[in-house]
Amino acid sequence: MGGGPGGYEAALVAAQLGADVTVIEESGLGGSCVLTDCVPSKTLIATASLMTAMEGMKDLGIGFNASASHAQADAPRLYARIRDLAQAQSADVAARLAREGVRVINARARLARPGVVAVGDTEIRADTVLIATGARPRELPGAVPDGERLLTGRQLYDLPELPGELIVVGSGVTGAEFASGFQALGSQVTLVSSREHVLPNEDADAAMVVEEVFRRRGMTVLSKSRAVSARRTSDGVEVSLQDGRTVRGSHCLLTVGMVPSTEGIGLAESGVAVDERGFIMVDRVSRTFARGVYAAGDCTGVWMLASVAAMQGRIAMWHSLGEAVQPLRLGHVAATIFTEPEIATVGACQQDLDSGKVLGRAVKLPLATNARAKMDGFSDGFVKLFARRNSGIVLGGVIVAPRASELILGVSLAVEQQLTVDEIAHTFAVYPSLTGSITEAARQLMQPADDPAR
Ligand SMILES: Cc1cc2nc3c(=O)[nH]c(=O)nc-3n(C[C@H](O)[C@H](O)[C@H](O)COP(=O)(O)OP(=O)(O)OC[C@H]3O[C@@H](n4cnc5c(N)ncnc54)[C@H](O)[C@@H]3O)c2cc1C
Repeated sequence: MGGGPGGYEAALVAAQLGADVTVIEESGLGGSCVLTDCVPSKTLIATASLMTAMEGMKDLGIGFNASASHAQADAPRLYARIRDLAQAQSADVAARLAREGVRVINARARLARPGVVAVGDTEIRADTVLIATGARPRELPGAVPDGERLLTGRQLYDLPELPGELIVVGSGVTGAEFASGFQALGSQVTLVSSREHVLPNEDADAAMVVEEVFRRRGMTVLSKSRAVSARRTSDGVEVSLQDGRTVRGSHCLLTVGMVPSTEGIGLAESGVAVDERGFIMVDRVSRTFARGVYAAGDCTGVWMLASVAAMQGRIAMWHSLGEAVQPLRLGHVAATIFTEPEIATVGACQQDLDSGKVLGRAVKLPLATNARAKMDGFSDGFVKLFARRNSGIVLGGVIVAPRASELILGVSLAVEQQLTVDEIAHTFAVYPSLTGSITEAARQLMQPADDPAR
């Protein structure tokens, strides 16, 4: 049930293992991930990153000719590209499922009882059912989106223009990414954050760098400011804060979390337990409380990432079809916040070390002194590596840099394979390169054998 990454990746694994597989999807294959959330937002950010890079052109010795004084985002073209790319990606998913012999039904599904899924009046029997129905943006009672001025992240790409003055409510991952992207594209952005700093659940050093960059680029960041309502005015929007202040702009984007799409699909009647927020309760091999019923992805609320949804779905299939399976290990998930610069993380975090949860040491190297960063013309960012105190085994890391999402894999491999800082330090990195800072951090974490701190 559901054709997003949780559902379609599971379908591919099940088909590979010889199962007879049906995917029931009510909107479009690829799910919200491909059609409205992850893929569209990252496509927008690809253009935004290029705009940011162009800002630094002068410093890199590139001039404009007289007829083109500066670059400008062409919003209708950009939005059309985003919509086309999402459709193309969805078509690729459909083609792949068809190639693997997966049957696809375009309809809304409901769990009639364990082992039986209903589509309208038709009942489909199955040995295994996977629920992967995803989640949707949470709405504030006093700020109901209208798709024109008061928007969720799913309504941005139908706008006729770039928001002139965009108020982003919420400074979590989604809010920070959109604030960063639209600021780079040319909107004047106000970020309304209920917390003291943006990205409150992330590495504090990383969040600080990003917030500093936001402010330097002209974004207004309102911290400790809780939005209670938003309404349309004659020419824009007005957001009211809990302390009585108001903020005015042309558009308001609401990014205040996600709620699971788990109502009205027969869960309680079938014995599938949900928590107090409606997320389906699962164990580490994606089993629900009902026999033969598994769940994967955002509807479980485990970690709202496409990669996690896909892995939960695959694990469910391996488990139900009797394959050897490793339970989900959240400690090894690599994640990225696609702000400018990006924040990529994997494994243990600073808080784990500070709280004593793990006995480790950390090294943080600013990229300002990295030769490649200098050549590329940026100085905001760092590489941070965590290693276990005695063994030197790499526990995790944080990279803040342009394209940090592409740089984190080396640290991910180290965490997954339990490599030591000595092993990383002996690995060749290219000179000059940003990854050179990873091997340098590992070198700094190496300790002589007789060091009492080992
Ligand atoms: C703005 C934004 C940006 C994001 N960026 C990233 C990113 O960069 N990287 C990343 O890893 N993650 C990202 N995410 C998270 C990612 O999109 C989700 O984790 C992912 O979509 C979860 O996949 P899923 O299969 O659980 O659900 P979805 O992708 O939501 O798919 C669920 C599908 O189920 C269908 N469905 C629902 N109910 C029924 C029913 N009863 N019958 C039939 N079909 C049904 C829906 O139509 C939907 O197509 C982002 C999220 C947002 C909001």
